[in-house]
Order: sequence, then C-alpha cells, then structure tokens
Amino acid sequence: MQEWIKQLQNIVNSLDKLEEFINVSPEEKEAITSMKTKWGTTPYFASLMDPDDPACPIRMQVIPSRKEQVNCYGLQDYLIFKENRAVGEKRPDCIARQYQDRIAFTVTDICANYCRHCFRKELVVDQELSLRFDLNEGLDWIREHTEVRDVLITGGDPFILSDDKLDRIITELRRIPHVEMIRFGTRTPIVLPQRITPELMEILGDFHRIPIWINTQCNHPVEITQQTAEAVFNLLKCGVNVGNQAVLLKGINDDVDTFRLLHQKLLSVRIRPYYLFYCEAAPGIDHFRTTVEKGSELIRDALRGHTTGLAQPMYVIATNIGKIPLMPDYYFQEKTDKEYILKNYKGQTTTLPLISE
Ligand code: SF4
Repeated sequence: MQEWIKQLQNIVNSLDKLEEFINVSPEEKEAITSMKTKWGTTPYFASLMDPDDPACPIRMQVIPSRKEQVNCYGLQDYLIFKENRAVGEKRPDCIARQYQDRIAFTVTDICANYCRHCFRKELVVDQELSLRFDLNEGLDWIREHTEVRDVLITGGDPFILSDDKLDRIITELRRIPHVEMIRFGTRTPIVLPQRITPELMEILGDFHRIPIWINTQCNHPVEITQQTAEAVFNLLKCGVNVGNQAVLLKGINDDVDTFRLLHQKLLSVRIRPYYLFYCEAAPGIDHFRTTVEKGSELIRDALRGHTTGLAQPMYVIATNIGKIPLMPDYYFQEKTDKEYILKNYKGQTTTLPLISE
C-alpha cells in the first residue's frame, strides 16, 4: 500500500492516538473529549508537534480548543456570504465565483489535516453546510462558460482524491478549449508530502499547453521538512510551480522573527511566497485573528528591505467581492469603532468587523 494512503488510514483523530505523539495538556484533553467537532491530522504532521508545549504552532492548528466556541467577531453562514451563494448567478454547488474569468471548483470536503483556523470550517470541520460535489455537473458548467480561462480546484483538499479522479479532472479540463490554466489549492506538500508519488507526477505531466499551478499552505517554519523539500522538487520536475498561501495567525506567525524565517525557509525549499491572507471572519476562529494592520506591519518590519524580494507575499483579505490588497501603502477607506471599510480593484467597498487587540 502506498505510504500516503497508510497515513490517511492512520489519521490521528482521537485522544489515544494523539497521546502517542505528545503529552496532551488538560485543556486539550477537555476540548477533545467535550466538543463535537471534526479534527485530525496525519501521523507525519503529528510527529512534528512539540510533545511538551501546548503553544506549539502545529498543535494550535490541529487540536480543537474551547476558544472555538466563542464567536464575537465571526459571521454566521460565512461561506454562503463569502462565496456569493445566496445572491446573483445560479451555479452548481461545486462552483464558486467572484471574478469573470476564473472560478473555484470545489471537489471534496475531506482534508488530510483539519485546520482549526479554516475559513471553510462550516463545510469541512463543523459540517453545518453541506454541498453537492458533482464532478460532472462542475465540468459541464465550465464547458458552457467560455469566459472561464482559469480553474482553481479546491476543497477540502483535492489531492485527497484518488489518482484516477484527479487524472479525469485534469484530462477533462485540458480538453476544454477556453481553459488556459489549472490551479490546485492543497496542503498536502506540508501535511502529507508522501502524496506526491511517481504515479501522481505522471498524471500532472510535464510540458503541456495548459499548465498546472499549485498553492499550498504553510504557516510556520517548523512545518518545512526534508520531505516537503523533496515533494516540492518532484512537483517542479513535472512542470508544476508551487506557491504558498500563508494565513496570518495570532500566536503562530504574527511576530517579526517567525514571519521572516517562514518566508526565507519557503524559498529554501523552492516554494514561492504568494499570498499572506488575513484570517477571515468565519465563525469560531476569533482567537486566531489579529488586527488587519498586523500583516502590513509584518511585511514592512520583517520582509520589505530585510530579506530578498522573492520572499515577499502579497498581503490580502479574500472577501465576497474578491481579494483586496492590504500592503503597507494600501490602507482602509474608513474605520469605525465596529468595522473597517475596504476598497477593491474596481473601487467597490466592503466591510469587515474590527477586532480589538
Ligand atoms: S486543508 Fe484547507 S480546506 Fe482543509 S481544513 Fe485546512 S485550510 Fe481548510
């Protein structure tokens, strides 16, 4: 059996299994035993946890916390709002759209790691929202929409799908004349690098008219290992570029030294920092959220001028009207005692709840 499948079969999702890796704190134990929430990670990612430190950045991203039950700033039905599911164009469940020429094709709600800070938490962790992941329906919709040139395949984690399913999605998309690029959002190079097998490399292929781009999510330098380095190198060998979409997380990567080291280490394993996302206003993740200003301060104080320009991601917030840059010289339209008012590339505005320090 392939190692990545073994990893998934042995997912660490119970107190007993977790205790094989770390000394579980009383707070962690209480949260695990009292909360009804989906959680879990691969044995590989669990092995990177600090066994004695509950503030370990991997533990904080993986192990449930009672803080998730506090929701002062998160928006209910966040994903429906964010992905414009209740307004405008009628689309299949698996197609999310904020732009004219590109769409997100959601193919699963399964992940190798259930990140506690996930903005899709309502779908993948709390399972309050259920969507129909019908590949045929999604592919048909893309075929009919000739304005779509860029397809982002997302989840959950799309690399959890079998080789056969991934092969079919890629092959079908490459047959559509108006599709010019395929992107995958997958955390597997970080939480399950064993997924990048020779068989998968064969499917991703080498030179092709329609390139494949991958963006992964790495939030702390301890997540980067020799196995990640090899997985990324193998992806590059088959013509797939790998970028990173970090999430700004309070207590995990919101200090200058960690933030700089994260972006330097990403480049050392050939991952290009692409985005730094402000942690979105999804419910139950207030405790991960910093002020909006924090990210631009970190770009200013940790990266700009302090290390190579290749290490600098674009700091953005993903909203219902598209991504909005939040770089140090691009600030708010207005800020009240309750909310920020932000402007997008078309001059449209949206709001975001203000969180105090
Ligand atoms: S892998 Fe992605 S979709 Fe899955 S829980 Fe983590 S952030 Fe959410």
